[in-house]
Amino acid sequence: QTHTSPAGQPAEAPAYSSVFSLAGKLALITGGGSGIGLDIARCMVLSGATVIITGRREQPLQQAVESLGRQAHYKVNDVTARASLDGLVEEIEADYGPIDILINNAGINMKKPALEVSDEDFDRIVHTNLNSVFSLTRACAQRMIERRSGSIIMISSMAAYYGIDRVVAYAASKSAVEGMVKVLASEFSGQGVRVNAIAPGFIETEMSRTAMNNDPDRRDRAMRRTPMGKFGKPEDIGWAAVFLASDAARYITGASLPVDGGNSIGF
Ligand code: NDP
Repeated sequence: QTHTSPAGQPAEAPAYSSVFSLAGKLALITGGGSGIGLDIARCMVLSGATVIITGRREQPLQQAVESLGRQAHYKVNDVTARASLDGLVEEIEADYGPIDILINNAGINMKKPALEVSDEDFDRIVHTNLNSVFSLTRACAQRMIERRSGSIIMISSMAAYYGIDRVVAYAASKSAVEGMVKVLASEFSGQGVRVNAIAPGFIETEMSRTAMNNDPDRRDRAMRRTPMGKFGKPEDIGWAAVFLASDAARYITGASLPVDGGNSIGF
């Protein structure tokens, strides 16, 4: 079906109302049982996708799936068990069909001055936020490339862009993920697979609430650095993920989209 664009040019795109639809798509979302991951799952379900969420604990995943409805399923999986990730992807595809969308959302943080960060702390954060992201992305991308179709989205952070004190391992891991996005986007660009990042600003979740509660000044400082004068909600990241995964973003790859109330405008 051909549609006419507002400028009167014939457009090959589907109707404007449906380019954002994820109907018929299957999305794998790591760390989808809470926080940002759960709202990415919710927005994707509302957009028509079926979602598989993962996490280390069964109970929050069960609760999340109940709240999301029939288009949601879960797998208990620790992304740091890197040897398990090929098997996870194989199992999901056998049970539910091809994975169209991968959201690398699971992540951990820790706030400590750099000189107090042990090798073990550093390795734990980099292992979760970077090494596992590579392994799972490779497992999914191999299959997506065979099908010449797929969208991979990394949940990065503005800590990748700016020097934010006391998050040395976290910032290193997220900056590295941003670098990985560009290389993978380039390598996969002719093969039907897009790779992008979303860089959230201050989003109200368990992770950020814990950080704010441990440091009473932090909330004030964070607010002062946010031109829109309010923190984001997990669904703000969810809708950005729907956009990047959808056909509306079919010409976008290798990008990092800040969703941050203006933090990245600069100070
Ligand atoms: P939460 O701590 O609220 O949620 C993290 C989720 O990841 C949990 O569901 C947790 O479940 C899961 N998870 C943690 N480790 C693993 C693991 N090894 N394997 C599988 N699942 C795991 O964090 P947020 O929702 O705030 O953060 C989500 C992403 O957004 C992270 O990548 C974070 O860096 C990023 N981000 C967040 C910002 C914010 O302001 N909140 C700002 C910028 C970026 P379980 O413990 O049961 O495994």
